[in-house]
Amino acid sequence: MLLCSPRGFCAGVVRAIDTVERALARYGRPVYVRHEIVHNKYVVESLKAKGAVFVEDLDEVPNADAPIVFSAHGVPKAVLNEAKGRLLLAIDATCPLVTKVHREAEIHHRRGRDIVLIGHHGHPEVIGTVGQLPEGAVSLVETIEDAAALTPRDPARLAYVTQTTLSVDDTAEIVAVLKRRFHDIVGPHRQDICYATTNRQEAVKRVAHEADAMIVVGSPNSSNSQRLTEVARRAGCPWAALVQRAEEIDWARFGALRSLGVTAGASAPEVLVEEVLDAFAERYRLRVETVSAADEDVCFPLPRPFRDSEAAE
Ligand code: SF4
Repeated sequence: MLLCSPRGFCAGVVRAIDTVERALARYGRPVYVRHEIVHNKYVVESLKAKGAVFVEDLDEVPNADAPIVFSAHGVPKAVLNEAKGRLLLAIDATCPLVTKVHREAEIHHRRGRDIVLIGHHGHPEVIGTVGQLPEGAVSLVETIEDAAALTPRDPARLAYVTQTTLSVDDTAEIVAVLKRRFHDIVGPHRQDICYATTNRQEAVKRVAHEADAMIVVGSPNSSNSQRLTEVARRAGCPWAALVQRAEEIDWARFGALRSLGVTAGASAPEVLVEEVLDAFAERYRLRVETVSAADEDVCFPLPRPFRDSEAAE
């Protein structure tokens, strides 16, 4: 078994989960959370058991003292304003690397540029980024074909930003098309695809060509987990699948297996990777080798209401 490293939780996910747990400890139950705090069913169910209540809309939050936590994916400005208007106790667990993209888009807009956002339609992070700017200021591009067909208002005043959890290679191809068509387009100083997405994809590439199959532990609605299965296939792995839990493994597919790659998306806890390892250990003679692409020591401070108490501890 070739175990990818890094895998699983990133700094933004750790911060978001810590935020909900701190809110529960400080304010008691219920703590409302807008959208899944991170895209992982196991994490969401664990927090529900502790007293978190997940909602999709602020209308579902009664006017009470109970706090509302915004998920790691970020929220449109209108949601923040609505919470402020209703005097809700809002705690923003948006990943700082998503907030960085929001600020970039705002700066470009203030300088008179329209924004091209490379990302996936309907993903909460994309909805949050589009919602930082007035309607019509952001055009969403999902594919090379979209980039080739884009007809901006002023091709000389354009900037691009991206979702943080995209495929590094696919995005580079889309950016190349945009740059070829719009010579003056401005981009981020460093790519918006975050360190965690980049490192997890790099580790998968190192393993994919040696593995007969690859298992990615993660949820189907987790963008970065989905990308890991695509990266594995594209890097030469004959078969790659996303599983949420060991019970989802389709054992009939495997049979005699020489080498298996295993990784986990940024929102998948290590306990679920261990569950998969144990399930294989029950059926195969297992030798585990870790393949490392990067060392990670990134850590983000908690959102403001908890930062001061953290400093005092
Ligand atoms: S995947 Fe990247 S952007 Fe998303 S929460 Fe983790 S560090 Fe932040």
